[in-house]
Amino acid sequence: MSGAPRIAIVGGGLGGLTLARVLHVHGIASTVYELDASATARDQGGSLDLDPESGQRALLHAGLLEEFRPLSRPEDGELRLLDKDAAVGFRSPAPEPGERDEGKERPEIDRRALRDLLLGSLPEGTVRWGHKVRAVALGVAGRPTLTLSDGRTVETDLLVGADGAWSRVRPLVSDADPVYSGVSYVDCLLHDVDARHPAVAELVGRGTMFALADEKGLIAQRNGGDRIRVYAAAKAPEEWSRSGLIDPADPVAARKRLLDLFPDWDEGLRALIADSDGPLVPRPIHALPIGHRWDRTPGVTLVGDAAHLMSPFAGAGANLAMLDGAELALALTTHNDLETALNAYETPMFPRAEEAAAQSADNLTGFFRPDGLRIACDTFTAVTSGSGGEAR
Ligand SMILES: Cc1cc2nc3c(=O)[nH]c(=O)nc-3n(C[C@H](O)[C@H](O)[C@H](O)COP(=O)(O)OP(=O)(O)OC[C@H]3O[C@@H](n4cnc5c(N)ncnc54)[C@H](O)[C@@H]3O)c2cc1C
Repeated sequence: MSGAPRIAIVGGGLGGLTLARVLHVHGIASTVYELDASATARDQGGSLDLDPESGQRALLHAGLLEEFRPLSRPEDGELRLLDKDAAVGFRSPAPEPGERDEGKERPEIDRRALRDLLLGSLPEGTVRWGHKVRAVALGVAGRPTLTLSDGRTVETDLLVGADGAWSRVRPLVSDADPVYSGVSYVDCLLHDVDARHPAVAELVGRGTMFALADEKGLIAQRNGGDRIRVYAAAKAPEEWSRSGLIDPADPVAARKRLLDLFPDWDEGLRALIADSDGPLVPRPIHALPIGHRWDRTPGVTLVGDAAHLMSPFAGAGANLAMLDGAELALALTTHNDLETALNAYETPMFPRAEEAAAQSADNLTGFFRPDGLRIACDTFTAVTSGSGGEAR
């Protein structure tokens, strides 16, 4: 690209930071406007498994794949599917050290560690913390302009919305809004699990465990630091999450109400909720329409959830956000003309995101049917065939 374009990235999540990093590797400066006050302002959520074709490929372009490896946890790659009596329906073991194939595996990493890796790789001042973007518009000569919450305006040559599900940038290119999926999560966390909750640790194993029945689920995953994160999931009206029934400020009452949703489930499974510590956080699951896309809008594009928010049931959102960021940066370094570069980025991104969004929507519908466990066993048997997964 000729000259030095002014690139404003709204949102310092995994998509926006990967974009800024790969641009930096190619000598292009950008500014990331992030509403959080600092890197530690907010819990970054659970563990992610990084796919070789998307998340890991993005890290390769970012020059960070080798630094990622020691931070990742391939040993936490086990998958278990259980019924509500805790009987195992499917199990896929984590690779043994001698059987590992770095090119094929999807090692886990805590989100915070991954975000910190990206943040630490950016020049000082790239991320403007505490800079909430309040509005965006096409200003003089059609140049994208953003307005910060303190009233300041910034004109750019390229505006990238990397600002997640409720993107402020998206309305510049599209009328689409996220739609509630019909399923809500409640996040719970257990600390010091090996010492304080050995039975829970044994039940979950080294990786991720889904218990599915009655159109509900308890999904537990090993996180770093001897923690297990639990998503209790159920079909519920959208208002349920906002009703105050599960109040993060009153974890004792919230825990009891959540347990009431799983009355006849195995006590070991109920312990995933009963033994949790800290606040319980309700999280309704939304998605953009499958196949969301937009007409080319000069000087503006989207990456990650802003472009293709989907439910977590394909394990793809963060992986795709990172790949989007890397591929947009590469397109900008390859093409001199901005619009040609944006076209080159968007053209393969749309169908790639559509495929993952369709998969995640199918999985969500299937897993929360009365026979959800059977559907999940079939799905994961197909995904892991050849890598040791087996139905019981
Ligand atoms: C429960 C759950 C489990 C998941 N598990 C997985 C998984 O296992 N694997 C996987 O690949 N994906 C998973 N996902 C999906 C994944 O979390 C997202 O797809 C991913 O975080 C998207 O990254 P992003 O950078 O596009 O957006 P985000 O991570 O949402 O980052 C957006 C950033 O923009 C900032 N921002 C927002 N608005 C503004 C504004 N107006 N001004 C300035 N800054 C702003 C936010 O503070 C945030 O830092 C999961 C999602 C959920 C909810």
